Amino acid sequence: RAKEAGKAQFARYSAELQETARQRLDLHNALAQALARKEFELHYQPICRIDGERPVVTAVEALLRWRQDGQPVSPLQFIPALEESGEIIPVGEWVLREACRQTRCWQLAGQSSLSCSVNLSSRQLLQPGFASQLSGILRETGLDASSLVLEITESLLMQDGADTLACLRELSSLGVRLALDDFGTGYSSLGYLKRFPLHLLKVDRSFIGGAPHDPELRAICRAIIGLGRSLGLEVVAEGVEHPEHVDFLLNEDCRYAQGFWFSRPQPPQVLERLFNGEGYFEGHGCLLGETGP
Ligand code: C2E
Ligand code: MG
Ligand code: MG
Ligand code: MG
Repeated sequence: RAKEAGKAQFARYSAELQETARQRLDLHNALAQALARKEFELHYQPICRIDGERPVVTAVEALLRWRQDGQPVSPLQFIPALEESGEIIPVGEWVLREACRQTRCWQLAGQSSLSCSVNLSSRQLLQPGFASQLSGILRETGLDASSLVLEITESLLMQDGADTLACLRELSSLGVRLALDDFGTGYSSLGYLKRFPLHLLKVDRSFIGGAPHDPELRAICRAIIGLGRSLGLEVVAEGVEHPEHVDFLLNEDCRYAQGFWFSRPQPPQVLERLFNGEGYFEGHGCLLGETGP
């Protein structure tokens, strides 16, 4: 009896495994064609300077979107798949070019000091010739290097090879700025902050959410903001969803914030309505202008 049950369970288990493997293969196949089929899009989320009378949009973060058969798939699902297959290299190049083109376009239309943040995968950054690819894109699109921020994660710095350091120095010498994304969630070896040429720290949203009420999260946020400031880095808080988060951040002298309170990531046409002063986002309101983080 037990043996029979065991067999049945095994059969069920291996059917599930096969199903998972098949789904993975389908995902990879679909992604391999997605670029050619123009299924990718960029949405943009405002980053606001918060220490004035009203929040002011100084930058946007470009976030990749993909619809598989019309259905949106989360980047948390498809980006790891792109990284695994190596497709992140052509897709990442498309993201960079499109984000630079769009930002330059907005600058020419009046948002002259707008800058743009683009997320980079380690595989993309460590590919040979990445810096010259990037300077080609800047030249083609006419975007000044100082208007571009590249967001990297602690896992890249963790690899800690001489290549990583050399590569980041080369990028930095082009004049682009480097942001450490999701700070505090990785291994957070503070040595990174000294060793690598970073310009901005983005405090992960898992700290901000509970910070106003949780004394420990509050202490962590305060420490990260203070650390950034004393190292001369600009600090951006992610995941700002409530006005009390804004009050808390202002109290801690954090000048830049990003999150649903200001705006969700939006397609470019929707952001343009904000740029053109047609109403506020989700009722909360941002203004444009000023030079940003
Ligand atoms: P990230 O770079 O940390 O981007 C911020 C993520 O937080 C975005 O998720 C955004 O929608 C979400 N977010 C922003 N404000 C709030 C808020 O107030 N509350 C909450 N709960 N979430 C908020 P998204 O778009 O799903 O992207 C997830 C991750 O995928 C990004 O995290 C980034 O690591 C990666 N990613 C997105 N686009 C690209 C890309 O073009 N290239 C690469 N390599 N990675 C990308
Ligand atoms: Mg990011
Ligand atoms: Mg982030
Ligand atoms: Mg994050």
